[in-house]
Amino acid sequence: MNINENEVARLVQQVLQEMTSGAPAQTAPKKQCGCSCGKGEIPKTARVAMMTELKKFEVQEYPIPELGDDDILVKVEGCGVCGTDAHEYKNDPFSLIPVVLGHEGTGEIVKMGKNVKVDSAGKPLNLGDKVVTCMIFKDNPDITMFDLNKQNVGGADVYGLLPDDDVHLNGWYSDYILIRGGSTVFNVSDLDLDSRILIEPCAVLVHAVERAKTTNILRFNSRVVVQGCGPIGLICIAVLRTMGVENIVAVDGNEQRLEFAKRMGANNTVNFMNYKGIDALTEAVKEAFGGYLCDFAFQCTGSPVAHSNIYKFIRNGGGLCELGFFINGGDATINPHFDLCSKEITLVGSWVYTLRDYATTFDFLKRANAIGLPIKELITHRFGLDEMNEALETNLAQKGLKIAYINKDF
Ligand SMILES: [Zn+2]
Repeated sequence: MNINENEVARLVQQVLQEMTSGAPAQTAPKKQCGCSCGKGEIPKTARVAMMTELKKFEVQEYPIPELGDDDILVKVEGCGVCGTDAHEYKNDPFSLIPVVLGHEGTGEIVKMGKNVKVDSAGKPLNLGDKVVTCMIFKDNPDITMFDLNKQNVGGADVYGLLPDDDVHLNGWYSDYILIRGGSTVFNVSDLDLDSRILIEPCAVLVHAVERAKTTNILRFNSRVVVQGCGPIGLICIAVLRTMGVENIVAVDGNEQRLEFAKRMGANNTVNFMNYKGIDALTEAVKEAFGGYLCDFAFQCTGSPVAHSNIYKFIRNGGGLCELGFFINGGDATINPHFDLCSKEITLVGSWVYTLRDYATTFDFLKRANAIGLPIKELITHRFGLDEMNEALETNLAQKGLKIAYINKDF
């Protein structure tokens, strides 16, 4: 039996607690596990949902390998289903099959190599801590933690988008994942499970708003359009709301999503289904601001037509952040004279996030919860490991908002 220092510290703490409180500790000391599942020992094998061919997951079992000195074994609690997963499930654009998908995951540390002491932000790591990962470090000096304007992590390796190898425990659609030395890991024990599952998509919006701020156009009293009220647009509204931007108009074609946008902080909505042609739609957006075009717009759909349209909603000298095209969605047509030059629009693109944005996101989630934004209600569907086909089909059918895998063993 391999009891490491942290385990000893935990046991000592438990004994001390018993002595000072005069009452027995709530649970008997566990063996190696350290996990709060109550089952004690770490099993010899782990289960993963392996995507073996297009649109097909198979639950497979693999031995849990010996940990290296810098490795961490995490018992998975849950993981969001991302649009990227849906693309991979449908078409395998990244040629990953066979692959264990799932990159928006979180779980509990059940075993650590002896060199593991702190997370990527310098916070102590102990058995039982809840963690998320961001990316697997490559030797790229432009991707660093503490430099605000460093490169985003797009294209970096992440767990859940790695082809299968002899470790197998490489994605969060599993009940255990092996986090190898050199990965970014954050201790997020102070966030609840649903918030932790939402960290990755929220980081995308924290980054987009940071990009928007570089234009110097976005201010407290700005009139802001958020176009597209899927999870990304809805979180965009929440990020703006937590930073004190209050004059937000949400644009979408689905009344239910627009209602949710209001609860998330939009103070007016425009349903484009009710208007024929861009001129009528522009008038509706203007009316929603009391007769003004917007100062700044966030484009959160993957539709080229939506990109072409959004310039019309922006005033002369206004700004635009385009973040809807996470993958190639085709070309969009604009009129460079009318849409861009003569209006002097400042345009920024946004993709993924920097490591710094990732860490900022933990605080965003605390603020959003504290001011009562229904951020956790974004998770509308939950599936177990043997239901991942259904989970991905639900995402592809665009039912609900955020779909999540939840490990029912917790
Ligand atoms: Zn994602």
